[in-house]
Amino acid sequence: MSLWAHVQQGPPDPILGLTEAYNKDTFPNKVNLGVGAYRDDEGKPHVLQCVTEAEKRLLDAHLNKEYASIQGPKDFRDASAKLALADADNALAEGRVTTVQSISGTGGLRVAGIFLAQFYNFPNKDRAIYLPTPTWSNHLPIFRACGIEPRTYSYYDKNTCGLDFKGMMQDLDKLENGSVVLLHACAQNPTGVDPTPEQWHEIATLIKQKNHLPVFDMAYQGFASGDYDKDAYAVRHFCEQGMLPFVIQSYSKNMGLYGERVGALNVVTTDPQQASAIESQLKIMIRALYSNPPIHGARIVATVLNDNDLHALLLKETHAMADRITSMRTRLVEELAKAGSKLDWSHIQRQIGMFCFSGLTEQEVQELISTYHIYLTKNGRISMAGVSSGNVEYLAHAMHAVTA
Ligand code: PMP
Repeated sequence: MSLWAHVQQGPPDPILGLTEAYNKDTFPNKVNLGVGAYRDDEGKPHVLQCVTEAEKRLLDAHLNKEYASIQGPKDFRDASAKLALADADNALAEGRVTTVQSISGTGGLRVAGIFLAQFYNFPNKDRAIYLPTPTWSNHLPIFRACGIEPRTYSYYDKNTCGLDFKGMMQDLDKLENGSVVLLHACAQNPTGVDPTPEQWHEIATLIKQKNHLPVFDMAYQGFASGDYDKDAYAVRHFCEQGMLPFVIQSYSKNMGLYGERVGALNVVTTDPQQASAIESQLKIMIRALYSNPPIHGARIVATVLNDNDLHALLLKETHAMADRITSMRTRLVEELAKAGSKLDWSHIQRQIGMFCFSGLTEQEVQELISTYHIYLTKNGRISMAGVSSGNVEYLAHAMHAVTA
């Protein structure tokens, strides 16, 4: 009997497992619409110019490789918090925001979960966090691993391929006061469906009235509309209403820094003493998890955000990425019509950000994978960033063929 005989083969990750299958596929026209990573119109990974320029400057500066502080470099944290919150409710100017660097969005969510599990006074015994249905699949294991029970609230309406606003409001209203509610700040993953500003106002009023704790996952700031301020509207509005949200940022998508693993966790509090106490506890948790964050990504982000020219270039480049995705939405709808599809695909154009929740069934997805070598998650989510001038026609034909 071997020591590890009882360890069984686990299932592949629902998203990254697809990339593994795609990589093994030898079909020349295969298409990967699984993972949410931006590709240029040639289907190639894209390094932003502002990032390349920042890296040149960093190389020229001959910096050392000492450990970063546990919470990450101050110039990074200040710039990151400002990008997310700007002057909302004067929270930053009043020194009542704690910001720690995180191992991208995933790590920020995980540290937030650990903090909540230890310090939040949950109204329910099993320490629940309420997630929209559907949500990013990794939210569930992240919070479970922190001892927090993922539960759901209504979000997506299959009939309209849009927001089930009524269902969402009813569910949030039914929760025990003081519940923890996760909200996607913009470009909801996987649906691409966001509340309008007016709907956000109503959601904020309800969440405040119910004294729920809003936890914003902001993985796509800049990517939804191409405008960083517009995409931070909900987060800032909640602050303006006097709420104290958690805001988790990622630089994977908007700066294309996927593999650098850089992000931040911001906790808005009532005063600088509280901010300081929370920072001290987060540091204790981080020290035990990974000790200190990686330095390179944080340096890139700080260099870009703290330099006027590079910052302006970033805004332009994020806008261009968002625009390319929007134009592919239009093209895909046009190509579906050209291919002869009589179905209503208009939601592809209405949805926002990196993803399109196509409405394709699990069986149709399976056929796209096995017959057409087009890889996407079984819930029918298409990563629009993988669609290009070169494959949009092929994709449309295949989608029509499996749905006709
Ligand atoms: N939240 C959401 C909603 C996401 O879609 C993602 C990335 N797919 C993340 C968080 C985290 O990504 P990362 O860890 O690369 O920042």
